[in-house]
Amino acid sequence: MKKPLAAETAGAAEKKILRIFGELCVLCGKTSHFFARSKMPGPTRCKEPLDVASRPPVQLREGVAQVRRASGRTVLVSPDGSSATRIGEIGEELLPLLVRGADVDGLAAFLQRQHPRARDIPVKLDRFLAELDLGGLLATSQHPSRRARSGTKRVPLFNLDRLARNLAEWWRWIPAPQSHCLVALLVVAAAIGLVAAWLGDPRRLNPAGLVARFDPVGLVVFVFMVVPLHELSHAVACRAAGVPVTGAGIILRSYVIPGPYVETTQAYRIANRWRRFWIPATGPLVDFLASGTAAWTVVLTGGDGPVGRASLYVLLLSLLFVYLDTNPLIASDGSHMLEALLDDELARTTAVSRHDAGLSRRSVIRTYRLVCAAHVVVAALIVAWLAA
Ligand SMILES: [Zn+2]
Repeated sequence: MKKPLAAETAGAAEKKILRIFGELCVLCGKTSHFFARSKMPGPTRCKEPLDVASRPPVQLREGVAQVRRASGRTVLVSPDGSSATRIGEIGEELLPLLVRGADVDGLAAFLQRQHPRARDIPVKLDRFLAELDLGGLLATSQHPSRRARSGTKRVPLFNLDRLARNLAEWWRWIPAPQSHCLVALLVVAAAIGLVAAWLGDPRRLNPAGLVARFDPVGLVVFVFMVVPLHELSHAVACRAAGVPVTGAGIILRSYVIPGPYVETTQAYRIANRWRRFWIPATGPLVDFLASGTAAWTVVLTGGDGPVGRASLYVLLLSLLFVYLDTNPLIASDGSHMLEALLDDELARTTAVSRHDAGLSRRSVIRTYRLVCAAHVVVAALIVAWLAA
């Protein structure tokens, strides 16, 4: 139960109200928007406030999961697992009422009793409920999910879940210390291969070789072996973390550029951040191991002959994709890895936007931006090497 605000000093009470409504607005995705940064542009995600007068009682949709994160925050996950909405302490206070079902006036009255000095409760409550509605979390929600990505089209083809589950079982059969040692050994072996290939002839690893040393066999090997292994690794990691894979197929980015995808959205159900981290991390790991394997082949063949040339091309493509897939500036394996480590799935949205909309803690935004800067510096160094 909260301490009554009247028992606090005026300044502290004011701060608490700010914090509370900061939290309340986090529910609808906009924390300091409301108070400290009232001059900021209006909320972008809560454009359609619900029509309070004509609305039936508000109730959480059946099957909405409540996931408690390591940071202490609660995340509500839609029944289909495709949408997750983080909620703050006020949202948690409302949860029992939302599970049972309550009318909006009743919810507002409850909040007013809990926080008698708070202002604008009906407006903020309305935005909070609008956010839950957009996330497809209310029984009355018309939206299946907010996470339907714009600019992309998904063509589901099959489900890898069964295969992923079998492989994950096999992987779990190896005791944890041994499996971790195996991964570490493979990474070290790949790194040694890459260093050996680089020492053999540094110019071979110049990314300009992607054009100058084009090899159709290398391209085919990359597209039909490395890429499927990359996607399969996401699926196995998902199953190893204990949640199902819900689909796989072809994704058309900007409705044109094709690529494979594996649906691992159920990962939001996983409370442990390291388990969530490994689901996106296995993809770039596979790319890195592929580049290491190709590097060893290049070292052994001298990079000559059909096998050597194809291996060199696989090596260059795999390294390129290690870099692209870990780019935290766009929604990628890299951004998902970082968001899992920071335990904040809104970190990228907040960190790369011009406005600190208050979706994430300042330390999280700082760390995220630092990693983005490091990624850009690496790109600059590569360009400088190319130009030299
Ligand atoms: Zn990936």
